[in-house]
Amino acid sequence: MSAELDLYKILGVDKNASDADIKKNYRKLAKEFHPDKNPNAGDKFKEISFAYEVLSDKEKRALYDRHGIKGLQEGGGFDDDMFGSLFGRFFPGFGGFGGAGRSRGPPKCESTVLPVKVTLEDLYNGGKTVPVTYNRIDICDKCEGRGGKAGAAVKCRTCSGTGVKVTLQQLGPNIARQMQTRCPDCQGNGESFSEKDRCAPCSGSKTVEYEKTMEIEIEKGMKHGQKIVKHGEGSQVPDTEKGDLVIVIQQLQHATFTRQDDDLYMNAKITLTEALCGLKLVVKHLDGRDLVISHPVGTVFKTGDIKCVKGEGMPQHRNPFEHGNLYVKFEVTFPENNFVSAEKLKELETYLPPRPTFVLPEGEHVEEVALHDYEEFRDGAGNRGEAYNSSDEDEDGHEGGGFRQAQCHTQ
Ligand SMILES: [Zn+2]
Ligand SMILES: [Zn+2]
Repeated sequence: MSAELDLYKILGVDKNASDADIKKNYRKLAKEFHPDKNPNAGDKFKEISFAYEVLSDKEKRALYDRHGIKGLQEGGGFDDDMFGSLFGRFFPGFGGFGGAGRSRGPPKCESTVLPVKVTLEDLYNGGKTVPVTYNRIDICDKCEGRGGKAGAAVKCRTCSGTGVKVTLQQLGPNIARQMQTRCPDCQGNGESFSEKDRCAPCSGSKTVEYEKTMEIEIEKGMKHGQKIVKHGEGSQVPDTEKGDLVIVIQQLQHATFTRQDDDLYMNAKITLTEALCGLKLVVKHLDGRDLVISHPVGTVFKTGDIKCVKGEGMPQHRNPFEHGNLYVKFEVTFPENNFVSAEKLKELETYLPPRPTFVLPEGEHVEEVALHDYEEFRDGAGNRGEAYNSSDEDEDGHEGGGFRQAQCHTQ
């Protein structure tokens, strides 16, 4: 193992460092080398995060102490991105995942891809383990992938040992095309076993399929669509290397928050009184805390205003002490008609900004008109009427065109 990547050295601690020391140094270094603050530090931040991820985890730390980086890599639990970016640089030709070593061996079996549904709370808090159950194909233990008793294989009778089944496809009265397919009896190997020599557990197919359950740990700050790769936990068929199990995080919709990267967004309906006279809002956060959001009296909230609560967004994956922001978009609800007497309204008006001066235009082209409520036109099926029509009149006899489809209701 190269001496270049000493995880203890990266965090500036010695081999017997306590968890608290590791955490302390990590926090200090993560702040110092965070790409936002120190964009020229290159991969330093990644190294720090990686070192912390390993050394703060009892199991991973023990694995690293015993077997070094290689032990971690084989032990799994890291995704390709992390190893790819760190190991491509430190160990060129290391022959890790998809590295140079792969091309010499048999091809890798196709990955098993599974979605796992989690809540936004799970992604915020981390630490939850989710069991995933999947069908795994493995090489049969009993016959070690031969399909029958060692040395007892005979030439397949169906394909005469060619592994190929030839059929004729009739294309027309006098035209036929030769079709070659893999022999179904020997799976293209050209060999099969007599009934007595055939392996019972796999019925000669060389592989067995079984249901397997794995516990997947959801880490703080993981995102929708993120992949967790469990190396070698996928299927394997003869002449391939073990495939991977790939878990794809699927975040369920949350009733209050939506997420964008590490930021959270929410809508808040407030009353006109709150919008004008001061606001106090309680928001139940994803870890169960009640955030009390208040704003100095004197601030006027308008519909569409967006305010930010710093550091109350999602934790960053692998850097969970740093959080995104929480953005709150406000919608102001106005009071109902006649919520107060006309007399009181006059009083209210004295507190509000003065209205613009009203000047009645002069001359004979002045006409007073009434104002009615506007309702969007709806057809019998409840569909919204199109704002444009190919003909000038639709079936109901209303004239086409957006506003002209409006109906006035006299109160
Ligand atoms: Zn078998
Ligand atoms: Zn055959």
